[in-house]
Amino acid sequence: MLMEEQTIEKDEEVKNDVPEWIRQDREAIRTVDALAKHVRLTPEESRRVAKACERFQMKIPPYYLSLMDPENPSCPIRKQAIPDVRELRILPSELDDPIGDANKDLNNQPLAAMTHRYPDRVLIYPTPLCGNYCRHCFRRRLAGRREYAPTDKQMEAVLKYVAAHPEVHEVILSGGDPLMLSDSRLTDLLARIKSIPHIRTLRIHSRMPVVNPFRITEELADALRRFQPLWVVTHFNHPVEVTETAKKHLGHLVDRGIPVLNQGVLLKGINDNPETLRELGWKLIEARVKPYYLHHLDRAQGLSHLRVGVRKGLKILRELRGTMPGYAIPSYILDIPEGYGKVPLQYHYLSTDDRQQLYVETPDGEYVPYADLSDEKVQPPDAAPEIEPLKIYPQDTELREKLGKMVSDND
Ligand code: SF4
Repeated sequence: MLMEEQTIEKDEEVKNDVPEWIRQDREAIRTVDALAKHVRLTPEESRRVAKACERFQMKIPPYYLSLMDPENPSCPIRKQAIPDVRELRILPSELDDPIGDANKDLNNQPLAAMTHRYPDRVLIYPTPLCGNYCRHCFRRRLAGRREYAPTDKQMEAVLKYVAAHPEVHEVILSGGDPLMLSDSRLTDLLARIKSIPHIRTLRIHSRMPVVNPFRITEELADALRRFQPLWVVTHFNHPVEVTETAKKHLGHLVDRGIPVLNQGVLLKGINDNPETLRELGWKLIEARVKPYYLHHLDRAQGLSHLRVGVRKGLKILRELRGTMPGYAIPSYILDIPEGYGKVPLQYHYLSTDDRQQLYVETPDGEYVPYADLSDEKVQPPDAAPEIEPLKIYPQDTELREKLGKMVSDND
């Protein structure tokens, strides 16, 4: 049984002049001993958590802890928040910088505290601190490590860089978690960025609405409204996380016209089935949050116990189609290891036969002929032809040429 969520009313959210989100942060669980007071751990489990904590940080605000089932090791909140000794097991294909934020060969990081991977967007890391430390973090090499906090000089250099690149139209604050900054530091930074004439929109990536939703105060939402167009992208992975409290605080943003998107991560044993993702999609839509991306787990180190295969991911997404509204289904996204960019992983619904007749697969798995405008042909009424996948990929010879080139480039 999940513990009942503790809902805190507005007038109780500032106690003794300390905003509730800051109290949550100060009182977050950071040690195994503190954790053991709330969650049943055997001595062996405590030892394993402590071992993982030697390498990776733990931080669980009381609110997020209240969503956890203290008795059940398979609780999805527990699996996302409590360090696991398997995080120390690193596979040869896992990477310290899995999505190439700082790939020198691609010049993705021309300056510290930023990534410029796509021509029109720049990612800035104003803080390495987060509201909790997710077990599946793809930036675990720097999340929570104060030594990665950018200096004022570095931030000035980043802003100068953005101003000097007129092709950049969007700045994304990521992290760490940018909502760990105080209101004044955050709004000062947004104002500086907004004053650059070629910046057309702003984006904030944050997991705070999930782990410490009190951060979204009405005052913060009022302040963010001044910087529109501004998008907030949250990180809910499981329906249990979309509580009434989270909905109420997300509502502060949506009520002020700030669009909220969600990008989750496909995680083994947490949300790797259609039922959980369907319920997550519905709960997000009820909270007026658009499910935007479902990330295939990056090849960050120590995450093999949470990784789902691409084929299974595609199958799950395929099962969602036709069983829930299209706008509640996220795109399944692979961030190509080492910084080559994001691509959607898509199930293909079109097929063709040897007479080039197109067939489309229905959500129920039936194939029906589709008359394409330009290539419709009269079909002789003979036996059913063999249906094959549509040839939209490079022909064999073309692919072989490309692969041959890759081999010789690497020689
Ligand atoms: S909030 Fe984001 S950066 Fe921070 S630990 Fe979680 S995934 Fe990593």
